[in-house]
Amino acid sequence: MNFEQIYVGGKWINPSSSTLMDVINPSTEEVYLTIPRSSPEDVDAAIQAAFDAKELWKNTPLDERITLLSKALQYMEENQQDLALAISREMGSPISSALKVQVQGPLRNFGNYLALAEETPFVEEHQGYLLYRDPVGVVSCMTPWNYPLNQVIQKVIPALVTGNTVVLKPSSESPSPAFYLAEAFHQANLPAGVFNMITGKGSDVGEQLSSDPRIDMVSFTGSTKVGKEIQHHAAETIKKVALELGGKSPAILLDGGDVDLAVKRVMNSCFYNSGQTCSAFTRFFVPAHLEQEVIDKIKESISHYQTGDPEKEDTKLGPLVSKGRYDSVKEYIESGIEEGAELVLGEIPQAEKGFFVEPCVFTKVTSDMKIAKEEIFGPVLSLFTYDDLDEVIEEANATPYGLSGAVFGEKKEAIALAEKIETGNVHINENTSVFQAPFGGYKQSGIGRESGRHGLLEFTEIKAVFTG
Ligand code: NAP
Ligand code: MG
Repeated sequence: MNFEQIYVGGKWINPSSSTLMDVINPSTEEVYLTIPRSSPEDVDAAIQAAFDAKELWKNTPLDERITLLSKALQYMEENQQDLALAISREMGSPISSALKVQVQGPLRNFGNYLALAEETPFVEEHQGYLLYRDPVGVVSCMTPWNYPLNQVIQKVIPALVTGNTVVLKPSSESPSPAFYLAEAFHQANLPAGVFNMITGKGSDVGEQLSSDPRIDMVSFTGSTKVGKEIQHHAAETIKKVALELGGKSPAILLDGGDVDLAVKRVMNSCFYNSGQTCSAFTRFFVPAHLEQEVIDKIKESISHYQTGDPEKEDTKLGPLVSKGRYDSVKEYIESGIEEGAELVLGEIPQAEKGFFVEPCVFTKVTSDMKIAKEEIFGPVLSLFTYDDLDEVIEEANATPYGLSGAVFGEKKEAIALAEKIETGNVHINENTSVFQAPFGGYKQSGIGRESGRHGLLEFTEIKAVFTG
């Protein structure tokens, strides 16, 4: 595989511009890879290839599509060790969990989408009409770096298996998974133009990939700020838009809930991947009389979140992905202190080499502070106390986001509270997501859903044919 080429029209080709971009290893700050900074001509060629392949792929029977995609899955499985190492070096995921979380989980999702497509009725007979689920057409996919393979799989596989053609622009911070996937489709002999991959700065190519009239749908995961721009560019030609954006997810401990379990799950969610998870529980609401117990338990468990070199087996948290992310997280920690919150764990980051940030926990956080309102995207937890449940629901819902949440307590009481939380997912006690369930956000956390049947059908248009 040549990482200085792009994949267009069934071939690895040299981009029209020789400008390259550096992919930096965030532990060493050294260049790990160089990849093309595609020109508008390259993007145009990729869109045209996807447009030209649209009819052929739409008319390829589902079982043939599944057979071809299964071959690509096999290639990905054969290369999983190399993929894990590449992801770890590009974005800092500790090698101890990169294989399982960053590679094997996403590849399971790949297989799950194929199995789901096999059992999905794409034509249903109803009283008086037939209901068709047609492909939307040409889909452009733009993805971030925090779960770089998973976010690509969550778009490209359901799009392709339902009969769409694709142009993928992966994150410039962690592009390797997209190169492996392009090679997998190449080895599987996917017809030319069905899948195309270009690299380039989102700020250069994003507008073209969200406004070109040959594109029918845009699927984006990343910040709410960029999501708004994409929707704006897509509006001119009324494209279908799917957005997976940021979050500021609340976790609520009820009186009588399992404190140990709540602390463990909140710490895992907030600190795992060095806090770079859109659905992380970053706001922890606890009954006032339990605050000290919760702080003590967090301090007791913090040794499980060893920060350091991602290639050492005992490291649990690697560096943040980039200097930009490091500076931003550092500023949030400083702003929390300036605005009067108390840092009971962690410190202002002062890494000499590598973008390392130790987990931080703030208490005495009030809802007007920046750290209470904005997504930090680093390992920073804010602890809030409450006396009255109505007040906590109001606060839990008081951000522009609505991605995820958690409630710890007696099951019936917890479900009753979950019903009042305005987020796309709520976890009760130890229960976690399953592939069959949809994932996505209310409010400014996004539009549409990924995963399971909802994620598969996101890439379809509905047609009713009245048959009498
Ligand atoms: P970002 O600027 O939105 O970048 C995310 C992705 O969007 C990157 O792959 C980037 O490509 C691309 N991008 C940037 N500008 C674009 C544009 N104008 N049009 C199309 N694509 C564009 O986010 P970030 O600065 O890396 O991270 C900051 C925030 O992103 C976080 O605080 C968080 O809110 C959010 N985020 C959310 C998720 C999630 O899973 N929901 C994941 C990652 C980040 P390049 O790499 O080429 O710049
Ligand atoms: Mg990097």
